[in-house]
This record gives sequence, structure tokens and C-alpha cells, in this order.
Amino acid sequence: MNTQYVYESFFTNSLNALIIGTETGSIIKANKAACKMFGYSEEELKKLGREVIIDTNDQLFQSMHEERLRTGTARGVLKGIRKNGEKFPVKISSVTQQNEQGEQWVSIMAIDVSDQIAQETKLSLLLEDSRRMHQQEEDNRILLENVLNSITDGFFIVDREWKVLFWNKAAEIILQKTEEAIVGRNVWDVFPDLNNLREHVDYKTVFEKNQSVRFRDYFPNYKIWAEVSVYPSEKNISVYIKDVTEIKGLRTLEKLEREVLEMNARTNSDLSQILDFYLTEIEDFHKGMHCSVLRLKNNKLYKWSAPNIPHEFSNAVDGMAIGEGVGSCGTAAFRKEKVVVADIANDPLWKNSTSLTEKYGFKACWSFPLLDSRNEVMGTFAIYYNRVKTPSPEEENTLERARNLLTILLENKLAVEAMNTSVQNYDLVSKATNDAIWDWNMATDEVIRTGNGMKVLFGYDWEDMVGNINFWDEKIHPEDLPGVKKSMKDAMDNPAQMYWEREYRFKRKNGQYAFVFDKGYIIRESGGNAVRLIGATRDISERKHSEEMLLELNNRLKQRADELTASNVELEKFAYIASHDMQEPLRMITSFLQLFKKKYADQIDETAEQYIHFAVDGAERMKKLIMDLLEYSRVGSNKDDLAEIDTNELLQEVLKIFSARIEELHASISIGHLPKMKANRTQIFQLFQNLIGNALKYHSGEDVQISVNVQEEATQYVFSVKDNGIGIKPIFFEKIFILFQRLHHKNEYSGTGIGLAICKKIVDRHGGKIWLESEPGKGSCFYFSINKAVEPSMVSGFIDNSILD
Ligand code: ADP
Repeated sequence: MNTQYVYESFFTNSLNALIIGTETGSIIKANKAACKMFGYSEEELKKLGREVIIDTNDQLFQSMHEERLRTGTARGVLKGIRKNGEKFPVKISSVTQQNEQGEQWVSIMAIDVSDQIAQETKLSLLLEDSRRMHQQEEDNRILLENVLNSITDGFFIVDREWKVLFWNKAAEIILQKTEEAIVGRNVWDVFPDLNNLREHVDYKTVFEKNQSVRFRDYFPNYKIWAEVSVYPSEKNISVYIKDVTEIKGLRTLEKLEREVLEMNARTNSDLSQILDFYLTEIEDFHKGMHCSVLRLKNNKLYKWSAPNIPHEFSNAVDGMAIGEGVGSCGTAAFRKEKVVVADIANDPLWKNSTSLTEKYGFKACWSFPLLDSRNEVMGTFAIYYNRVKTPSPEEENTLERARNLLTILLENKLAVEAMNTSVQNYDLVSKATNDAIWDWNMATDEVIRTGNGMKVLFGYDWEDMVGNINFWDEKIHPEDLPGVKKSMKDAMDNPAQMYWEREYRFKRKNGQYAFVFDKGYIIRESGGNAVRLIGATRDISERKHSEEMLLELNNRLKQRADELTASNVELEKFAYIASHDMQEPLRMITSFLQLFKKKYADQIDETAEQYIHFAVDGAERMKKLIMDLLEYSRVGSNKDDLAEIDTNELLQEVLKIFSARIEELHASISIGHLPKMKANRTQIFQLFQNLIGNALKYHSGEDVQISVNVQEEATQYVFSVKDNGIGIKPIFFEKIFILFQRLHHKNEYSGTGIGLAICKKIVDRHGGKIWLESEPGKGSCFYFSINKAVEPSMVSGFIDNSILD
């Protein structure tokens, strides 16, 4: 077999593309497979060279070329180019060869590796994918863990044996246990105190029924309200604890309480509606709870609010009388203390009413009495449960708070009711009274006028007043307004001042002014600031009118008194001048008559002599009268005025004057212990002289007895001068003190009738009085009082003393 032929045939028919070319790139020979691969005929290839089938700009081509020059062989995947322009990966194996003639050529084997590369790429993509997926899974796991750790809600996973598998950071914080301390351990071993969780998460529900559980509760040991969600899966339980303290827990209780108080503060708030709302919210906090509030009236309990207790039940207990053993509420109200009945069926307090509770399924009932600030029962707050139960610490907490709030609400309500009653009474009072009642709120500058006073007293209708804040100011007399305003401001500004009052003129609707007396009580804040003034305006026009009339009358009287005083002074002056000046002519009459008698004694007969005697006697008496009158007018004109005098001593002097007469009469004189006092000595001397003189003068003969005594009183001394003389008839008791009034003829008893008038005047001057007790035939007792605090002005008289000198 021809070797050349075999070689040729192998070359031509090889399934591999074979090309023989030169180092410079010419193609000498190309087999069928090569032509097919590149899409050119052999002729075309020979003509065009390798440039058209290989990307010679490829970096790899250059390095292969250099490799082959150096070593004689080169391999690599280059970019092939088909005639249709398609590029494809082509694996090239090339060898440099030399023939006998020393000519060099290159044998090239080209394999289309498009498919292979595609496959490889696909594989590597697949590999990459799977790596990425793996990574992602890992990332996800980390992410999940991170997420679970970074969330603020606690999250943990336990298996069916309650062994903790996962425990996030928030769970560490909320339940105060680190991941290391709990993972792998039984959750109940670590948390024996999570009773409420255990109560809710029972194995049966979670695993056997495969039900998720969700509840909200207070965790006293951790001081949180939490919303707990429990999700069972095939193998595990995921527990999710959301701290809702902020949203629903204590703070929410606070928020609820605030809300309730705000509702209550609104005007026209309906307490039973508020209670319904409040109790429903409390029930929402503690699932299973049924709340009621009863009100105590006349020792009986009545429903106030029981939003979620069947009506029939509420109605059945409505109006029950309180007492020991009358259920939880009746007993609690009676004892004034909390009553917790955990098991109604077996508690003696409920033995009479179990049929009722059985009917409605109530098994536990706790009741709290609601006591007011005076420790009086206002009502009860009760909790019913459909299961036997004692209060948990968190329930205790809620109920204690609720009890406090309800106390406030009820006390407030009762106070408002009481106030309404008193407001009604107040309305009635203001209707009944004739005063115009007003209530001025300074914060709003609003004045409320109740009753008909304004209409009845001043003629104003509502329309005249409402909306007119200047109503009052406008009606006050302009002259009185500044004073009224000032007095009011002064009263308000003085925190010690509890009321304001003022009289002023107030214009009636008809334009006339009424006199009013206005008085307002000031209500102050704790700081002393006046916030309200409540008062009544009274029309005192009539009183004012009579006061004015009285004043006028007084003025007239005073004027009259002044006139009288003036005329008295005139009279006294006259009396003085008259008595002083009349003495001179009188003396003349007497002395000339006596001269006449002396000179013509032998010429006149007995009758004439008698006439002269009468004339002289008359003149004498006239002189005496004038002297006495002078004396009278002198009282009060003495200059020695007031001095401390010893009346004992003074009386001894007086008695000296009468010593001859006393001896003559064998009169017995007794003097009590007399005081020292402030008085006008001359006047008191004269006073005693006149009284003792009279007592000696008007004696009844034998056994003359005179006594002088004194009685000391708080403001005055009362002296008495007593005799056992002839006495005086009561009808003359007043007359004898009048000037010139005598009861006897001059022949019986001498005198001028001026003595007692002088006494009266002296006593008057000393701020005292003079009077007497007497019975004819038995004697008289003259009393006079001397004011201890006698003023100098009283004693000094009206007469200008200078005229006496
Ligand atoms: P007079 O003694 O000068 O008449 P008085 O003014 O002293 O004037 O007294 C007035 C009258 O009162 C007397 O006239 C006398 O009738 C009566 N009288 C005064 N003192 C007594 C007395 N002690 N007992 C009885 N009558 C008296």
C-alpha cells in the first residue's frame, strides 16, 4: 500500500479538521472537515490564508505562535471565524514540521469546541448557582438570626420536650436570661414563675390540636404587659413575646384612667356610660373577667354599670339589701372591706344565691367596697369569673387601680349631685329673696344673675343684662363708681378679706337711682387669688330714705338744742347781770327806807312803821332771791374746775357751817366712808351744803337724823343724803328741782326755791343725775350720781368767766 496514498486519505477524510500551512500564515492544504468547519472551499482557504479563519489579533494567538516558534508545538483555544462571520471557540493543536528539502510547514488540528465550552460554561454556571444558593441560604440563616436577634420582641423556639432551641436578644432582655443560660434547657425548669404563660400554652392545644395561641397578660416578675403568640410547627413551638407595656399595659391603664377622667370632666357627662366604657376596657385587659359597679342607696345596692353581665342577672340582684352573707357585694358593702369569693358554689356567703350564679355560669366573685373620704360606702366594684379563681397579682394591680379611680368618679358624681341639689335650693332661695343675686366668674368675666331680684327691684329684664358686660358699671351712679371699683379691688387684692361690701346708687330701669347695699363673698384659689365673687344686691332706698329723714330730724333737734343752749347762755347772762345790777337799787330801797324810819321815827305811826318793815323785808327777800339767782348762774363758772377731792373731808367742812343748828336740834349726823374723786370742789361743797341744809330745814321736830352714804358703781358714785323729816309727796318729785319752785309759804319755811335747782345743775355738770325717794311724814332721801370720768368741759359753765371779775 502506497504510504503517500494512505496519508493523503487519512488527511482528507479525518473527522478532525486538519490544515497544513506555513509559519507566515499561508494555507497549503485543508481537509474536508476543516473546510466544513470554516465554511470555505480548500481553494478559497489556500487563497485567503489563515487570516480569515482565525482571529490573529487575539492575544492568545500571538502567544501560541511564539510558543510554537520556540518549541515547535503549541495548543490553545483560539477564536475561529466561519465564512458566515460567526465566531466560535476552536481548539488548535499545531506542530512545526520540516521535509527533506528543509522546507517548514505547520500541521494544524482544529476542533470546534463551541459545544464543549457551552457545556462547561453551563456547568460552571450551575456550580456557581449552587454555590450562590448555598451562600444565600447561609446568608438567610444569618440574616434571620440577626433579624430575630435585632427585633425588639422576644422570640424563642422550644421543641416538643420544651427544650429551648433558639433564644433571641430581646428574649434575653425581656425575660432576663442569656442565650447561653437557656438554650438546651427545659423552659419551665428555668422559668418556674411563668405561670400565666404555662396556663395559656398547654400542650394539648398547641401540639395535639396544632393551634396557635395568642394572649395578653401582665408578667409581674418582669413588670411588663406582654402580648404572647405561640405557633406550633411539626417539631417545634415558636413563642413570640411582644412587650406591650407601652401600648396596652400599665401605661395604657394610666392612659385609660386619664381618658376616663377626661370623659368625666366633660359637662353633661353620663357616669353610667363612662363606667360602661371603663369596665369594658378592664375586661379587655383580663380576658374572662366580668365587671360591675353597684351603687348603695338606703342600704340597698342598685346597678350602676355592668356592661357585660346578663341583664337578667343584674336585674335579679338590683335593689338587694346589704348584709353579712348577702353574696360578695352585699357582704363587702356591709363589712366595708374587700370580699374575695373564689368558689361561689362552696362559699357560705353565697349559699342563698347559688342558683342564680349557676344559671349564668358565674363561679367566682370578688367585690370591693367603694368608700368615700368619710369612709362611707358609696357602692361596690365586683368581678365575676366563669371559673373558680382567686385574683392574680396582676389582677390585684388592675383592680386596686380601678377601685381608686371608681372612688374618685363616684365621689365626684355624688358631689355634683349634692351640688345640683344645693344649686336648686340656691335657685329657690334666690327666687324667694328680694335681693338680686349675682355670681361673677372672674376667669371668664361672666356674671350670672339668678332669681327675679333684678326685675323686681330695679325693673330690668334678662334681655337688658345678658351679653352686656358693662351692664353693672353703666348703672352705678358716676359719682359712686370710682369708689365702688376701688373698694372692690382692695377687697380682692387682700387675701385675708373674705367679702366685699358697699353702699352706692344704682340706676333703675326707669332712670331713677336706688340706694343699694351690695355684698359679695370672695372665693379664692389656694394661692389666694380671687376667682369668683358671689353676692346679693339689696335695695335699701327706703331705709336710706328714713335714715335721711332721721338725720334731718336729728339735725333739726341739734339745731334746736343749739338754739336753746344759746338762749340759756343768754338767760344766764341776763340772770347774772340782772342779779348783779339789781342789788344796787335794792340796797338803795332798803337803806333809804331805814333812813326814813330812823329820821321820821317820831312822826310816823305804828301802821306806817309796819309798812316800812314790809317794804324792807320785801327788799331783803328780793336781795336773797337775787343772791341765790346769782349763785345759780355762777354754777359752772368757777375757775378751779376739776381736782381730786376727798369728799369725807369736804363733808366735815360742810357740817361745820351747820354746827350751831345741829347742836340746837340735837340732830344726829352719820357719814359713811366717802370716796376721793375727781370733781369741782366748790360745786360739790355747794351741793352737799344745799342738801344737808334742806334736811336740817325740813325736819319734823324730835330726833333729827341725817345720814350721808355712797354706793360705788362701775362708772359712777351714787351718793345719798337721807333725813327723817317732813317728806315730800311724789307729785312734787320733779317740780322741786325747778328754779323758784317751793312747796311752802315763806312763813312756814324760809327759802327761795333755788337750792335744788342749783344742785341739779351741779350734778348735770358732773355727768350725773339727781332724784329722790320720799314719803310725807317719814322723810326723804336725795340721791345724786357723779361720773367717775368727768370731763372738764362738763363742769365749766356757759358764762364767760371774765364777766364775773
Ligand atoms: P327752798 O328750800 O329754798 O325752798 P329748795 O329748792 O332747796 O328751795 O327746795 C325746794 C322745795 O323742796 C322746798 O321748798 C321744800 O318744800 C322741798 N324740800 C327740799 N328739801 C326737802 C327735804 N329734805 N324734806 C322735805 N322737803 C324738802
